Amino acid sequence: MAGFVIRSSTLRIGIVISTAIICIIMVFQLIWFRNVYRAQQKEFDHSVIKALRGLYEDLDIKVYDTAPLSELIERPTRDLFIARANHELGTDSLTRFLQYELEDFEVFTVCHVGLYDKNQNRYIYKTVLEPPGERKNPVADVPGLQRPFDCIVLSFPNRERFILSQMNFWIITSAVLLLVLILLSGSLYYFYKQKFLNETQRDFIHNFTHEFKTPVAVMGLAAEVLEDPAIVNKPEKLSVYAGIVKYQSGYLHSQIDRLLQFAYTDSRHIHLRKEVVNLHSLVEEAVANLEPLIAERSAVLGYELNAPSPFLQADRGYLLIVIINLIENAIKYSREPEILLQSSKTEKYITLAVKDNGIGMDKKQVRQIFKRFYRGQQGETHSSKGFGIGLAFVKKIMSAHNGKIRVESEPGRGSRFIIQLPIS
Ligand code: ADP
Repeated sequence: MAGFVIRSSTLRIGIVISTAIICIIMVFQLIWFRNVYRAQQKEFDHSVIKALRGLYEDLDIKVYDTAPLSELIERPTRDLFIARANHELGTDSLTRFLQYELEDFEVFTVCHVGLYDKNQNRYIYKTVLEPPGERKNPVADVPGLQRPFDCIVLSFPNRERFILSQMNFWIITSAVLLLVLILLSGSLYYFYKQKFLNETQRDFIHNFTHEFKTPVAVMGLAAEVLEDPAIVNKPEKLSVYAGIVKYQSGYLHSQIDRLLQFAYTDSRHIHLRKEVVNLHSLVEEAVANLEPLIAERSAVLGYELNAPSPFLQADRGYLLIVIINLIENAIKYSREPEILLQSSKTEKYITLAVKDNGIGMDKKQVRQIFKRFYRGQQGETHSSKGFGIGLAFVKKIMSAHNGKIRVESEPGRGSRFIIQLPIS
């Protein structure tokens, strides 16, 4: 029984969806985190205000009876609280009660305290309140101010740090969740890569068998005919069947050569043997190589080889492979092939374009064609022979030459492959 098989394309959709979900979770997490942070800030402010109210009551400060708390406490910055008071407060009791109140409301962070006297226009008392375990702060750092009333000034320089420390639990759980999500998406991606590799290998084996089965079968049939003793009396048939065997074995030979060449260069750097090469002669040689295919498909070739003195430094053998591959594909992927070969030259580069009137490709396909073992699935490409290694090899050769390859293509209208090579 066939097992449940997930294709890499399905897996890719799964990855896209789960990535989107992970992003949404992360956005929610951030919003939630910000809200918790704001709530903690509010709670801190409330606690300080409650502590100040406690202080007003403890010290029986007169102004407290005359106005609501919101008017008595001013907040010029986030970490500063200016509370109206009377300057004749006892400084010892102020410090002691303030310490109690802050502890009661769990404000366990450094607090710089100043008692401001409006008549003298200065602080008449300054001190630092530290929660247990905090490092000693030697100087009370209360910002200078001018007010037309006496006041107690509280400054919390470590307010943000304290609020964040209150959120440790949330920070740790968020970090763990984030880590889990990242690991999850990483393993999904790894799984997808493995799956993709398996599929390309399977496709390759499929193409490989398809490519070799037909010639072997044809040769087998031809051999059967040749085995018949009566064939000796028909010399014309003898030569036809011998020709078939020769053609098919030649074809097999060239395919095996290609595979070996690809396998040889796949894992290593291409070693170029550069010489001065005439690009136009190379195009002629490639066309001559492809003569049987051109005849078989009745391909019409046109030439606009306009590059003046088309010489460049390149590896002749490898460049020939590039041109053969491009022209061969142009023929393979066209119904009634009309191929145009164009060349041009600038000061530094020489360019060759192979244009066809074939089945063309969409953008998604164009992005894939230089990957190893990739083969297009639509239209006639399915019935065209190949291993999906040609363009990967072409790209590698172009990179070794510091050249570039690009494709202009439109489904149903044809493609134009353009290679650009530095002259020296
Ligand atoms: P193969 O031709 O053996 O499949 P290639 O690496 O040469 O391998 O090409 C990869 C794929 O790119 C092809 O399977 C085909 O889908 C697409 N392709 C290449 N050249 C053309 C072209 N001229 N027109 C349309 N599609 C092309």
